[in-house]
Amino acid sequence: MSLSVSAAFDSGNIVVERLGGPDDIELRIRKDRDSEFFQWFHFRLSGARGQRCTLRITGLEASAYPGGWPGYRAAASNDRHHWWRAETRYDRDEAGGTLTITVTPQGDTLWLAYFAPYSMERHHDLVARIGAAPGVSVRTLGTSLEGQPIDCLSLGEGPLQLWFIARQHPGESMAEWWMEGALERLVDGDDAVARRLREKATLHLVPNMNPDGSRSGHLRTNAAGVNLNREWASPSIERSPEVLHVRAAMIDTGVNFMLDVHGDEAIPQVFVAGFEGIPSITDRQLALLHDYKAQLAAQTPDFQTRIGYPPSSPGKANLTMSTNAVAERFGCLAMTLEMPFKDHDDRPDAVAGWSPERSKQLGRDCLVTLAEMVERLR
Ligand code: ZN
Repeated sequence: MSLSVSAAFDSGNIVVERLGGPDDIELRIRKDRDSEFFQWFHFRLSGARGQRCTLRITGLEASAYPGGWPGYRAAASNDRHHWWRAETRYDRDEAGGTLTITVTPQGDTLWLAYFAPYSMERHHDLVARIGAAPGVSVRTLGTSLEGQPIDCLSLGEGPLQLWFIARQHPGESMAEWWMEGALERLVDGDDAVARRLREKATLHLVPNMNPDGSRSGHLRTNAAGVNLNREWASPSIERSPEVLHVRAAMIDTGVNFMLDVHGDEAIPQVFVAGFEGIPSITDRQLALLHDYKAQLAAQTPDFQTRIGYPPSSPGKANLTMSTNAVAERFGCLAMTLEMPFKDHDDRPDAVAGWSPERSKQLGRDCLVTLAEMVERLR
């Protein structure tokens, strides 16, 4: 069987520059459509069973986050279920920044990706499975530019309105793994945390804000090259219907709490970014933000508050971003949760790095902290 590389599938992204042999595979990453962003890759390597392969992805100093490559290891899978990290090194001075991945495939086909992918097929499986649980409603809030549904799963009987959104940035697949963990816990009828939340609140979860970018193998934008997390001030049907529809549903219910789930390319930690610079900030909002972070850090050693983005100065918040826009409009606690693409520096995993399993567990743990604080969100 001859050597080949393909990315012609859901969330695939790679361009083959040269296939000189197993030890001479040169690749580059395609830009998001109508955009300069690129960082996400996902492809399969075939025809190299038992052969030591050297894959070089070049030109990465021009990628969206060059700081994401040092210390990063590529995700690899033999079966598309179990993902592990491959031997990887980065040299910023070689061919405009080169990531060199060295692997010996155990079978005829090996999959490689920036992070364990979360396909649109798996998304629909998730919506179907969770949507079939008692008390869960599935709504299509609208459609993407390419006509894909923006799915929202709602459950609970309480008056508080709690919103969760993920994958505004489609390459941040760990965000939908987080959603899978949170949703599985919320529909567990024996789970006291889920029962408390469902009694006190109505929860709305949008597991994938950007299905077009997800399917197209984008890092950061939708089908029109638009970064959805810069559209919250004035979303439009032409540029950002995904945000327009979700924001309209939020205005319809009101919002007592919002969590926007992301991945960060450079920082090997889990952290939260808040809304410190919004014009109408209140002491109550700041206290809720501080306490959520402190209680989550006590809940799970995977979360910490030492390292993250610097908070914006008073009055200087970017109101085109979801967290700031929602905190400003609704006067509520709103947060951006970031997980690593690299490993987790405080609790590294030599085999898997930060993983789908850790992302799902964080989703379950975040609900515990929320249940502890839910009375204060009204
Ligand atoms: Zn993001």
